[in-house]
Amino acid sequence: MISVWLFMGPPGSGKGTQAKRLKELGGFEHLSTGDVLRDEIQTQSELGITIKSIVDRGELVPDGIMIDLIQKYLSNYPKEGTRILLDGFPRTLSQGRALLERASQGLFKIEGVIWFQVSEQVLIKRAANRRICQRCAAIYNLESKPPRTEGICDLCGGILIQRGDDNPAVVAKRIGTYNSQTAPLLSFLRSYVRVLEVNGEQSEEMIFAALLKALKNE
Ligand code: AMP
Repeated sequence: MISVWLFMGPPGSGKGTQAKRLKELGGFEHLSTGDVLRDEIQTQSELGITIKSIVDRGELVPDGIMIDLIQKYLSNYPKEGTRILLDGFPRTLSQGRALLERASQGLFKIEGVIWFQVSEQVLIKRAANRRICQRCAAIYNLESKPPRTEGICDLCGGILIQRGDDNPAVVAKRIGTYNSQTAPLLSFLRSYVRVLEVNGEQSEEMIFAALLKALKNE
């Protein structure tokens, strides 16, 4: 059976950075809905163009599209023993309900939720300093984790860019969307699965160590 950990928290809380590190260590797959959507945008398909305008405004892609997309991706993994870090889904109550329903049908097991807690002030600063690799999606922070060569990815030599939705006005909108649509999932999910809250303002190393401990105790 596939097992899934949900990585949740506000934009810029470190979910993607930590999930990518855990994947590098081995034993986990990383499925980021943001990365999936950005890949779709790059293809310039009709769906990609629609998605781009939504993402650029800091709004959420409609639940129907997201639920179908996640179902498609999850069904592509080998069924036995795959451990997935699902980063950025669910983001609304109806996405949460759909995920629990699929799990209750035996399609996968939800191991639990890791919820990254970070204050708005820190989120805004992180977004301003965040750069991502256009080629491999590695994540940098100009202050706390700069690349060795300015503007170039340490891992693949790709060009580092600022995400279009990391500009201050869109970040404010994304935080508002998180507060109104995603934060209510915390108490909802707690009724069904265990939720581990992580202080996402600690250093990347400290968070990584805490996650390793939590996920190793499985
Ligand atoms: P992220 O990389 O997780 O910050 O996601 C970037 C953007 O993709 C979000 O601001 C949303 O516009 C969109 N997005 C990602 N995941 C979802 C989701 N589960 N539901 C709706 N929109 C999403």
